[in-house]
Amino acid sequence: MQLLDGKLVSEQIKSEIAQEVKEEMLDKGLNAPHLAAVLVGEDPASQTYVAGKEKDCREVGFISSVYKYPSTISESKLLEIVDFLNNDPEIDGFIVQLPLPRHIDEQKIIESILPSKDVDGFHPVNTGRMMKNILCYLPATPYGIITLLERYKIETEGKHVVVLGRSNIVGTPVSVLLSRKSKFGNATVTLCHSYTRNLKEITSQADILIVAIGQQGFVTGDMVKKDAVVVDVGIHRVPTLDTKSGFCLKGDVKFEEVAKKCSFITPVPGGIGPMTRVSLLLNTLKAYKKEISY
Ligand code: NDP
Repeated sequence: MQLLDGKLVSEQIKSEIAQEVKEEMLDKGLNAPHLAAVLVGEDPASQTYVAGKEKDCREVGFISSVYKYPSTISESKLLEIVDFLNNDPEIDGFIVQLPLPRHIDEQKIIESILPSKDVDGFHPVNTGRMMKNILCYLPATPYGIITLLERYKIETEGKHVVVLGRSNIVGTPVSVLLSRKSKFGNATVTLCHSYTRNLKEITSQADILIVAIGQQGFVTGDMVKKDAVVVDVGIHRVPTLDTKSGFCLKGDVKFEEVAKKCSFITPVPGGIGPMTRVSLLLNTLKAYKKEISY
């Protein structure tokens, strides 16, 4: 069994980006790419995610800015802020950290972001382009999964990929990407969800199993084919006496028993989490370079 080391690969990609920023931009007197984030309210998880994004930007030499607002902000005010960021030529791309407070229509906010600055890849124009295999910003987690498979030279062509979970941010887009007629696609994909019958029978046929269901330790050794590639997207904070923080991170897969059977597996932490973060940087770089025309 070999680890699919997302931490290592994301560090490699970050150093490639940092080198490009230095040599192709700063040394030539050009501005660095600029990523902005809008943070509404005091949700600790959202604060941690945004702080992580700022740290990533610093590491590669990007400019980052965070626009913070109280949870009482009105929807119309938030739409004004998005409009301001859409029109600010200094900002290459931005994200609105989700979830938003209940009184704000999340979909309306997402749709107000210019697709050309939507580095989270959540705007329906980007989703539609992804479906049609047209260049676009890919959502960060599926993009991170594909990049990790690519860096480890794991072929997807002709493979049977089983995806567990059909969320709009992970399961559904990764199933689309892997089944598209393209490099790192061309797989036969089965997408499973809570209404799927005979789940174990299906997962046991997977050459590549991607798990994003949000249930800790759900996938056990008997659900996995020998020598399968297993990608665990789940993240759960589990209380423990063994760490200073009082918790540790676990995935949707029972790592110890599944690792014994498969050829490759992502750890949690250190697998898809860091790949998701670095994908946002890659999208911001694309936005800076205007690689995608809308
Ligand atoms: P959601 O909760 O949005 O979706 C879960 C999906 O799993 C749904 O499609 C649901 O089916 C399906 N599901 C739930 N229980 C079962 C079951 N018993 N059998 C079969 N299918 C089931 O999850 P997300 O995609 O947002 O996240 C999944 C996990 O990944 C979470 O742990 C999350 O924290 C983590 N995550 C990690 C990221 C990273 O960067 N590493 C990024 C994003 C998420 P149905 O549609 O029928 O309800």
